[in-house]
Amino acid sequence: MQAAAIIYEEPTALAALRTRIAAAAAASRPARPAESVRLLAVSKRQSDQQVIACRRAGQQDFGENYVQEIIARIERLPADSDIEWHLIGALQSNKTAAAARHCSWVHSIDRLKTARRLAESRSSAGMEPINVCVQVNLGGEAGKGGVSAGEAGDLGEEISRLGGIRLRGLMCIPEAGAQPALLRERFSRLRSLQEEISGRCGGLDTLSMGMSSDFELAIREGSTMVRIGSALFGARSQ
Ligand SMILES: *Cc1c(COP(=O)(O)O)cnc(C)c1O
Repeated sequence: MQAAAIIYEEPTALAALRTRIAAAAAASRPARPAESVRLLAVSKRQSDQQVIACRRAGQQDFGENYVQEIIARIERLPADSDIEWHLIGALQSNKTAAAARHCSWVHSIDRLKTARRLAESRSSAGMEPINVCVQVNLGGEAGKGGVSAGEAGDLGEEISRLGGIRLRGLMCIPEAGAQPALLRERFSRLRSLQEEISGRCGGLDTLSMGMSSDFELAIREGSTMVRIGSALFGARSQ
């Protein structure tokens, strides 16, 4: 395809970001290895060239807010791209079959019904279980996805009993513009919640928290997956 001619040979942004992630992991107490933090490259509203260059530089996990965007990428990108797609935005119930087919992960589960549909689609297609996180709305913000902290355990337990789906952990998106003290509180709450409910949910290993402006703080509070867009690719197109 045409994009191949303009691949960036020096993936400096990715290398710089990985260095920052490793430094934040090392600065955690106790110190953590860089490999304990998985980087999810959030490619929403970025060009296909950027995605291709980033993939060529070794990045495999990419995230988008909409299933339709993931499908459009898959259609446009080289067939051998071998990308693990993560859905990080709300999943509408009429998109669950498409999500089950194309996504390796869904980070935004907040209803049993959606989880059930994903699980059924994967099972009936004979595919491996899909990885999911329960999204928790820690600030109780109206109009934002996610269950309350008090509901996460029950939902997690129900999901963990389903075949075709693997509950990996919790995800949060703190309030926009939150100051460091509040961010730290949110991240540490998600972590303690995960510890509280992990046993009844069959064991959880993923804390999806931290974005471009706060990922270092999130890592210090225990994040195992940071979702980063602008700090990797630059400002998004409108
Ligand atoms: C857009 C988005 C991100 C990435 O945001 P940046 O600030 O560009 O890193 C991460 N998580 C979710 C849920 C998003 O919608």
